[in-house]
Amino acid sequence: NRQVLLVEKPAGKLGPEHFKMAKATIPEPKDGEVLVRLRYISLDAANRAWMHGATYRAAVEANTVMAGGGIGEVVSSKAPGLAPGDIVFGDTGWQDYAAVPAKHLTKMPKVEPMTHLLSVYGIAGLTAYFGLLDIGKPKAGETVVVSAAAGSVGSIVGQIAKIKGCKVVGIAGGKDKCNWLTRELGFDAAVDYKDGAVFKALKAAAPNGIDVYFDNVGGDILEACLSQMNNRGRIACCGAISQYDGVPSAHGPRGVPGLIVVKRLIMQGFIVMDFMDQRDEALSDLQSWVASGKLKVQEDVINGLENTPKALIGLLAGENRGKRMVKV
Ligand code: NDP
Repeated sequence: NRQVLLVEKPAGKLGPEHFKMAKATIPEPKDGEVLVRLRYISLDAANRAWMHGATYRAAVEANTVMAGGGIGEVVSSKAPGLAPGDIVFGDTGWQDYAAVPAKHLTKMPKVEPMTHLLSVYGIAGLTAYFGLLDIGKPKAGETVVVSAAAGSVGSIVGQIAKIKGCKVVGIAGGKDKCNWLTRELGFDAAVDYKDGAVFKALKAAAPNGIDVYFDNVGGDILEACLSQMNNRGRIACCGAISQYDGVPSAHGPRGVPGLIVVKRLIMQGFIVMDFMDQRDEALSDLQSWVASGKLKVQEDVINGLENTPKALIGLLAGENRGKRMVKV
């Protein structure tokens, strides 16, 4: 059983020196557990955030198998309700095999390609769906701005906002990603935050102001959006990737709480797990949009468990387009 261990929690930027490969025997599932053979491991910005300390989950610790979500096949089961051959999703860690309590796994439908269970029908798609529709509450004709727009969550947020009749502006790093958003995904405009002042470019891209901002990044980009929010606008706080890797900036965005008061803004954080009771309804919408071609699924699959650390480091640096995962 090959495993990727986190050998040390990074004080600054995450690097390959923080991980090492190890070998262990394939575990025997205990009562209530199943043995899962991993097929795909999900790479998430949050993997890095978990290294800072406990959040909505326990912190990841040094000298343990690196935590992370994965899709796999049940090999043997000591739990009712799961049988060999079933496809499951859960926090399996970065390894070939994991023995996991059945109550921590979600049985997944058999979908082709299986990778869609980690992208559009997985955490990324559901986060985009609930964060935009339940927290952002966009109305047709409104302007929606999304950051990390070419990433897994952001690329789906923008497309759902288009489906709902909104004007959509994406913020992403680099010309290529911006062109992809407007030419392939149907965004109305895109702002390259690596090319000069975001505030000015955003003003040109969203001349009528912003009604909904879906925030994946926090920091300076949140500050630039805050000042251009329309009265009674909504900010869906999904994540803060600009703060994850390295030492977070000393101060938060200016404009909080002043702009929230005068513009009567609603700024609300959310965790996708809170919406799982509505998952079937979301999946049925997502499936019909994918089937009709209204929602394009972009995946970035990297081969080999040994490449998982490099894949996460690259995701934090903006290498990925769409949902990044590793084929084990
Ligand atoms: P993505 O696929 O979106 O990849 C992350 C992207 O973030 C990179 O490709 C990069 O693109 C961009 N990025 C990196 N650093 C910065 C920076 N300093 N400023 C602006 N953009 C940056 O990753 P995920 O889908 O895993 O995560 C997206 C967000 O969603 C994260 O904030 C994550 O924490 C959040 N999330 C929240 C959930 C919830 O329940 N609330 C659930 C799942 C995810 P670029 O080239 O554009 O810089």
